[in-house]
Amino acid sequence: MHSAVLVINCGSSSVKFSCIEAGTQALLCGGMAEKLLTEAAVVTIELGDETTKTAMPMGGHAEAISAIYSALQQAGIAERIAAVGHRVVHGAEAFKSSVVITDAVLDTIERCASFAPLHNPANLLGIKMMQQLAPHWPQVAVFDTAFHQTLPPEAFLYGVPMPWYRDFGVRRYGFHGSSHRFVCQQAAHMLGIPLSNSAFITAHLGNGSSAAAILNGKSVDTTMGFTPLEGLVMGTRSGDVDAGLLPYLATSLQMSTNEVIGLLNTKSGLLGLSGLSNDMRTLSEAASSGNAGAALAIEVFVFRLAKAIGALAISLPRLDALVFTGGIGENSVMVRSKTLARLSILGFEEDATQNALCIRGRSGTISSAASTTALVANTNEELMIATDTLRVLAERVEGLGD
Ligand code: ADP
Repeated sequence: MHSAVLVINCGSSSVKFSCIEAGTQALLCGGMAEKLLTEAAVVTIELGDETTKTAMPMGGHAEAISAIYSALQQAGIAERIAAVGHRVVHGAEAFKSSVVITDAVLDTIERCASFAPLHNPANLLGIKMMQQLAPHWPQVAVFDTAFHQTLPPEAFLYGVPMPWYRDFGVRRYGFHGSSHRFVCQQAAHMLGIPLSNSAFITAHLGNGSSAAAILNGKSVDTTMGFTPLEGLVMGTRSGDVDAGLLPYLATSLQMSTNEVIGLLNTKSGLLGLSGLSNDMRTLSEAASSGNAGAALAIEVFVFRLAKAIGALAISLPRLDALVFTGGIGENSVMVRSKTLARLSILGFEEDATQNALCIRGRSGTISSAASTTALVANTNEELMIATDTLRVLAERVEGLGD
């Protein structure tokens, strides 16, 4: 019985995977290979209650995917797999939705690699390796950027010369598409309203964070831009900064522009502000014990988040709900409380009791009866990718029958 989908997410130095049973949406097996191409490379497989860790020093993406495939074969899960869904970071304007992977699709993903030089090549490696190991499994690419392809020009264009857009693809693309798409569906379900007549702002707050304005199930604005660096303050990313900083810092720090961008991606955000950690839980604990740097980092994070939500609201005719998701959005009662307090202009008021209850996987409403609705919804990007994979394949079969 081929009823499961293998979801593969190849990062620059890691491979995450989940095998999801289509009907029940149960996780059959999951895990990740991390620290690839270093001495510490290790693959962790979680099967039921059992977790197996295997060291594979200097192992790369190919070794990782082989190890995952062998584990699935040994566990008798491989024979249940109907298809593979791959998370692909950048689809530029070439991909407006998920697609079955063909040679032409592979070429286009390769062409999009100039927009995501760290990620698309890793995604391609994963696809090609899977094709070699299991050529009989159909494969589908699900793009982080595709959901935001519905942004209108006024939201996706920068105020720069138009030839830069036409000739070089300079525009805002947006990311975290699978998560924003999944939680807006969840939110419509939670409120009992049709997605086709809904207006949400979704805030995906994890190590990387972005928010989106979603009207009738379609993204109309989002905070990330040409790269995931734009927008909110994140774990290690600065979010929006003045482009004038680049040459100024390059001179001050005696670095190349690329090195400065590296610091804005990896040493900034909560980590840079606090000088302590990129992890919101650590910072919350430190702030409660009087660490001023941690408290300040949290205030900047919340201020910039509330400011972005206010800006996203202008793309919507009304707001059915603000939806918090991601590790911070699903668990930090304090960040949600502070954010809602800054958003009274949009009619938000926290219900502190309900807010405190929505942690560790519990979703629900966290606003008072008189307030604009605020929800906590649990994201599941892997399930979104698995669902999309089966939908795209079913549509292809229907298309063949036409
Ligand atoms: P990723 O973007 O890597 O998938 P997650 O969505 O797992 O990240 O989010 C990780 C963030 O969630 C971290 O900053 C972590 O501290 C935060 N987080 C998780 N649990 C809590 C909690 N109970 N309180 C505050 N922050 C939390």
